Amino acid sequence: MINYISTRGSERALSGAQAIIEGIADDKGLYMPTVIPALAMSLDEISKLDYKDIAKIVLSAFLTDYTREEIESCVAKAYDSKFDTPEIVPIVKNDGIHFMELYHGSTSAFKDMALSILPHLLTTAMDKEGETNKICILTATSGDTGKAALAGFADVENTEIIVFFPNNGVSAVQEKQMTTQLGDNVHVYAINGNFDDAQSGVKQIFMNEDFAYVLEKRGYKLSSANSINIGRLIPQIAYYVYGYAQLVKRGEIMPGDEVNVAVPTGNFGNILAAYFAKMLGIPFARLVCASNQNRVLTDFFEWGIYDKNRMFYLTNSPSMDILISSNLERLLYLISGGDTDEVQRLMRDLDETGRYELGDEMRSSLADFYGGSCDSEETEKAISDMYEKHGYLMDTHTAVAYKVYCDYRAETGDERPVLLASTASAYKFAESVGRSIGIGGDLSGFEFIEKINELTGVEIPAGLKGLNKKEVLHDRIIEKNEMLDAVRASLL
Ligand SMILES: *Cc1c(COP(=O)(O)O)cnc(C)c1O
Repeated sequence: MINYISTRGSERALSGAQAIIEGIADDKGLYMPTVIPALAMSLDEISKLDYKDIAKIVLSAFLTDYTREEIESCVAKAYDSKFDTPEIVPIVKNDGIHFMELYHGSTSAFKDMALSILPHLLTTAMDKEGETNKICILTATSGDTGKAALAGFADVENTEIIVFFPNNGVSAVQEKQMTTQLGDNVHVYAINGNFDDAQSGVKQIFMNEDFAYVLEKRGYKLSSANSINIGRLIPQIAYYVYGYAQLVKRGEIMPGDEVNVAVPTGNFGNILAAYFAKMLGIPFARLVCASNQNRVLTDFFEWGIYDKNRMFYLTNSPSMDILISSNLERLLYLISGGDTDEVQRLMRDLDETGRYELGDEMRSSLADFYGGSCDSEETEKAISDMYEKHGYLMDTHTAVAYKVYCDYRAETGDERPVLLASTASAYKFAESVGRSIGIGGDLSGFEFIEKINELTGVEIPAGLKGLNKKEVLHDRIIEKNEMLDAVRASLL
């Protein structure tokens, strides 16, 4: 039986279902499994399985309180025709790199991998725990989580979903995707602030005990669809296991061969899932953490110092415009050997001074990671080079990881095979991608979609076709100190 405890230590152990309902612990910590399971199959056996079977194995390994039938039902409802390919995650080789395309779900970003299953894991958990309150999902988004969470939770019984996104901080396509969302239980707000403001606002609402009491009286309980929810993280582990299995299946590697991983990183959720896959027994060597100009993680991996006191840049990879990477707390917990006092101390430093510094021992445990960054101009050049040389279209986030990985390879001479997390369709960031491949002029984000399609012939994802003509249903813009009022207005 695997239980879940807070990274800050002051709480009792919960079952998987309870941890998914809670979202974040009362002491502000994040839930972590008390043990990391081992994969119940050999790498050779796993290479014969399809995506859904691998997802079932990974979910069952972590969520030991769910029955086999419950897991099967959740997986079947999640990874179905909402994805535009039965493979779920196509893997495409270009320039010696295996691009793991995680964006074939309904909102065209990798967030769909977890958010198409989280509502099912959550409603199953509510049944299992006899939870009678309505669950209200509060979500801060840098653009992609918001839409994926809205799509996942729209009209799901006994849930409400509220999304906050940074006004002017997301792409035109992302904004339109969110503001046109249908569903009786959906609420969307733009806030005058950046993603970190949205995320801290949401965390403050979670920590507001008086408000929780008022909500409880009205039959509501708050939970999270951000990657602070362990129910987001666990499904993401599956595609790293699947990616490795596919390389075995295709004869690119022998079972047991080491493979590197490259991930465009913001909140540190996606790359943390790769680290979990490594702990499960997948032979991953280096995990390359790629950042844009907001290179707080690059500096962290280089110096062992996390320091958010710096300029915040709006870049052409907006889903990574983040200075507080929440899931890093889980890595700190792991590399400190579960020393919750130490995690508490570091997080207090972060709260009070915006900065913390690792001791030598923890710092030496970061050797599995390599941090690198590139700016918006280098990102555009990477998109254009790849398109010209290989006819392959990358979105801006994927391009950041590609550029950083090329730098890593040149610097270290490491020629191991690599799985690169390709996190969004190029069409989600159509303007930046279009300009990178030479489309000019004074066009709207949506005109860029058409132009890219004409030039490249790459198919436009179903969810983005005709998006421009959809009716805007959510147009409220609020100040960052009005988030609590917005939640109150949405629910009460
Ligand atoms: C969210 C997102 C990222 C960053 O993922 P994290 O799990 O927050 O590190 C990268 N690329 C895209 C397209 C995203 O939507």
